[in-house]
Amino acid sequence: MSVPISAVDQPGKRALVDGFFRVVTYLRVSVTDRCDLRCVYCMSPSMTFLPKKDLLTLEELDRICSAFIARGVRKLRLTGGEPLMRRGFLDLVRGLSRHLKSEDLQELTLTTNGTQLARYAADLAKFGVRRINVSLDTLDPGTFRGITRGGDITGVLEGIEAARDAGLNVKINTVALRDINEASLQDLVEWSHAKGMDITLIETMPLGDTGEDRTDQYVPLSEVRSQFEKRYTLVDLPDSTGGPARYVRVSETGGRLGFITPLTHNFCEACNRVRVSCDGTLFMCLGKDDRVDLRQTVRASLSDALLNEAIDGAMRVKPRGHEFVIDRRRQSPTIGRHMSVTGG
Ligand code: SAM
Ligand code: SF4
Repeated sequence: MSVPISAVDQPGKRALVDGFFRVVTYLRVSVTDRCDLRCVYCMSPSMTFLPKKDLLTLEELDRICSAFIARGVRKLRLTGGEPLMRRGFLDLVRGLSRHLKSEDLQELTLTTNGTQLARYAADLAKFGVRRINVSLDTLDPGTFRGITRGGDITGVLEGIEAARDAGLNVKINTVALRDINEASLQDLVEWSHAKGMDITLIETMPLGDTGEDRTDQYVPLSEVRSQFEKRYTLVDLPDSTGGPARYVRVSETGGRLGFITPLTHNFCEACNRVRVSCDGTLFMCLGKDDRVDLRQTVRASLSDALLNEAIDGAMRVKPRGHEFVIDRRRQSPTIGRHMSVTGG
């Protein structure tokens, strides 16, 4: 069988095509595993973080991102941990913005918890960031404190306003949590839509030990959607992102609402993405442990030949799909690594 010619194949560029003929055009990079919050579904209260020597330097991050862009990656999302906690983060963004100027990269974006956003929003916009995702699970200060184990919502709300003032298009990401924010999700959607922001609801994924019982937190979005349908008219929208979110238009608010359902809906067949963790490990699937060490490769040689070889090897073994299970008897998470290491 021959490899399909894709829109990303450009003269002189070898596209990243995996063994199932999916073309990888989207890279998510975790720039740090550290964070100023400790969300109950993401981290344990007593997280140990990687030693500094294990983290990719800013130069190495730039080199790896640039190698992927040279191979046809068109969308780059920086994440973490909390990306805005990484020292020198703006220098990284400034450097990478050269790929926006050359139009090799279509979009440079980030996912943030918003606590530091008020300080950074204007510069992010200056360096070509157009859209960002801000994670916010509730509008209630007490519930926010509980979910984040001590966080203050004020800074996040200020950050969102600063981002909007800077002209950034903000999308809200919300993890649906049984008994915790389940009942207030509709308020959060109305609030987002009143500000012209899209919002995506996410099912909890079993990644890493968080010191909490996953089966208590998990609420299927099919259930949430049924609740919404009692109050709103949801009109399915055609899939435009190629990603795992399925979108609807809420007729009453006019806004877009997304559902990310890794556990109840398998979105792997259209997967166009890979992830690099903050220690330079390339993960071909969020829900699988298959990995390739890129840190050793970038440190071994100044030429990108080895790096390209490693990336090509990874493409050949990108798995067909994930195997997320929240197992009531086997309480351990399916995947041992935390989302903050791999990047959400
Ligand atoms: N700190 C930033 C933030 O919170 O937006 C970026 C990193 S965070 C790991 C990225 C996204 O992953 C967030 O929207 C967060 O809610 C989500 N997330 C973290 N752990 C998760 C889990 N176990 N299941 C589902 N989503 C999770
Ligand atoms: Fe930090 Fe984001 Fe994880 Fe919350 S979800 S602990 S903000 S990395």
